[in-house]
Amino acid sequence: VTPDPGLIEYDEDIDLRILGVLEDLELKTLTWGLVDGGFQEDELLDLLDDAAEVFGDGRSATEIKQELENRVLITRIPTSTGDLWRTRMAETVRLLARLRQLFPQNMADQSWKTAPKLVSDYRFVARQRFFPARNLSSAQFLEEALGDEQGPTRDSLEALTLDGGGSLSFSPFQARAAETILQHIGSLEPTATLVAAGTGSGKTKAVYLPALAHLSSLPRDTPWTKMLALYPRNELLKDQLQTALTELRLLKSQTGVALTIGGFFGDTPYNNSEPTGKSWKERNNHRVCPFLRCPSCQADLYWFKDGGVGGLKCSTCADRVRSDELLLSRWQLQETAPDVLLTTVEMLNRRLGDDWSRHIFGVGQPPGHRPRLLLLDEVHTFSGLTGAQVTHLLRRWRHAVGEPVHS
Ligand SMILES: [Zn+2]
Repeated sequence: VTPDPGLIEYDEDIDLRILGVLEDLELKTLTWGLVDGGFQEDELLDLLDDAAEVFGDGRSATEIKQELENRVLITRIPTSTGDLWRTRMAETVRLLARLRQLFPQNMADQSWKTAPKLVSDYRFVARQRFFPARNLSSAQFLEEALGDEQGPTRDSLEALTLDGGGSLSFSPFQARAAETILQHIGSLEPTATLVAAGTGSGKTKAVYLPALAHLSSLPRDTPWTKMLALYPRNELLKDQLQTALTELRLLKSQTGVALTIGGFFGDTPYNNSEPTGKSWKERNNHRVCPFLRCPSCQADLYWFKDGGVGGLKCSTCADRVRSDELLLSRWQLQETAPDVLLTTVEMLNRRLGDDWSRHIFGVGQPPGHRPRLLLLDEVHTFSGLTGAQVTHLLRRWRHAVGEPVHS
């Protein structure tokens, strides 16, 4: 499933459009490898004056300059002959292009200044970014994803389209992805949906919304892993754990269905004691969670003992992330399989053969309690040798699960 060609341009922010004018001018010199240039003060003000007129901006050039500077979109470079101005783009390129090799012999007495360059040459290409148009209302999205089918899946999917009082808009590719996924989950044959769209276009929602809606309609008599989300890198996993937790909270508040989530990777604490791993840094006598921020206020979360197990409490507000939504430790995951498990390729590979933890991945479960969905993120990274190994790993996992899974 890929986005339609009907694409729209993104920037509605007038400052960014003005910035674009400056960047277009800088591009001409940057593509030639000239990184030390800049706009002189008068030159900049003239350009801003012209841009303001073109975009119908009522501000004076000085006001625009001040705003761009406040937003760190442009940087002032003091020189012996007066100030120069560069956009953040040109300054970033300059900083990268001027990096030096930093070996011990170049550390003393500022000798790094004469050390060999780190970047021998560069090519700079700038293209307009496009995003798929979000021109479907949530009602149209539901209609396309589920037709007139009623029931718990629809209720949950509808709940997940809400957004702080209003409801979200969707791209047609998201609706098609949701439709395909919901049609094929639970097939008797292994099936797969591939969603390919650019960064920031809403791929995650296109997959998580139908997936969670389906999971919420399944029996929850005993805990079992219903979906496995596999990530090539820890950083991606952390990002998605944060997003998924927010979606689960929305689902619970709207439908009462409480799904649990767990992250099984390097930073996951081993047991119910205070984590002591290097990544759990100590602050004010608390251990700071290295992979989640407060879902309410984005502040750091502290580990705390919560009725015998570990929980997370916000360092600023009253929010708590408890074991009824997040299974924090490996011990908890082992005791109570989460509805949604996020893990890494590395962890699955190492722990799939481990009797203690393989059931967390949905292995060895009775019919009806086997995973329904496998989410593979960033599949383009699974190429070459790694790709071949991941393929074998997935075959081993599928075989061990013993039932077709929608990927
Ligand atoms: Zn908070």
